[in-house]
Order: sequence, then structure tokens, then C-alpha cells
Amino acid sequence: MNPKAPVVAIYPGSFDPITNGHLDMIARGLRLVDHLIVAVLENSEKQPLFTVKERMEMLAEATREYSNVEIGSFNGLLVDYAKQREASLILRGIRAISDYEFELQMALMNRRLRPELETVFLMAGEAHSFLSSRLVKDVFRLGGDISGMVPPTVERRLKERITIEES
Ligand code: ADP
Repeated sequence: MNPKAPVVAIYPGSFDPITNGHLDMIARGLRLVDHLIVAVLENSEKQPLFTVKERMEMLAEATREYSNVEIGSFNGLLVDYAKQREASLILRGIRAISDYEFELQMALMNRRLRPELETVFLMAGEAHSFLSSRLVKDVFRLGGDISGMVPPTVERRLKERITIEES
């Protein structure tokens, strides 16, 4: 790696929607790199609540204060996108042991596909280790309070999108 070249990292994910756990990862990741591309995976098998465009808009609104964060999206192999964007690092988060196995498999596969690309893991912040996009959507749907778990832009959009189920 050229020591003078800026370190560019990609933080890939579904971000359906971004949570304060993701935001914590972004803030901490920025201490390690010069430029961070938060990239929404387009061809996920998961059935998303928000479109890629909506997820990118929420990411942009929530990270507005950072001049070195860019929001992107990609299709296909992450290693190809990283090459195209001249990124040398992949940033991922680990919340619990349950994340570890999947993350390890992906990191090893990506290393096999492109050995010069390193995956860097950050442990989730204590306050966020129970937080997931899926859980936030479920709790919101059932009428639970999600303030403090997601940025305000996400709370607003969830209110527009989801009707709270009456018990
Ligand atoms: P994916 O579908 O790729 O898992 P996610 O949007 O769920 O996409 O997560 C993207 C990355 O952020 C993953 O590495 C995941 O482990 C990490 N992550 C998700 N939620 C949190 C959190 N609360 N704290 C730290 N990292 C998280």
C-alpha cells in the first residue's frame, strides 16, 4: 500500500434502515480512514422495507456532518466495487458471537477473491450491541419507542411507512 495514498474504506450493508449502531460504526471508522464510502447492497436476497434510494437518502441525512463520508450503492461482488473505488479496507461490525461466523466466512471469501483487500472489524458499542435494523422495524411495528435507536430522519420515515399494529 502506498503510505501517502489516502486510506479509503467501504462500509457495506443493507442499512434497511440505518440505526444508531451503524452511525456509531461510521463515527469510529472515520478515526481510522481518510474517506469512508457507506455502500448499500442492491441485490440482497432480503425483502427490504425501504428502496435503495430511500436508504441512501437516510444515510446521507444522518451523516451530513461528515465531509469525508460518501454514500454509494453497489451490485454484484463487493471486491469488484472496492477495486473500482480504489478502497483498501472493508469495514464491518460485530455485535455478538452470532455475527461472527457469517462475518468470518465473508471476510475469508473476500480475502480469497482479492487478497490485498483487508476487512477490519469493530466491536459494536455497548449501547448498540442489541440493535439491528430488523429489531427496530419489529419494535416500531408493535408500537414500541425507538427514539434513541435511530436517527430522527429514520423515525420520521418509519412513521410514514409503517402502520402500528393495534393489540
Ligand atoms: P447486512 O445485511 O450486510 O448485515 P446491515 O445493515 O444489517 O447489513 O449491517 C451492516 C454492517 O453493520 C454489518 O457488519 C453489521 O454487523 C454491522 N452492524 C449492524 N448493526 C450494528 C450495530 N448496532 N452496531 C455495530 N455494528 C452493526
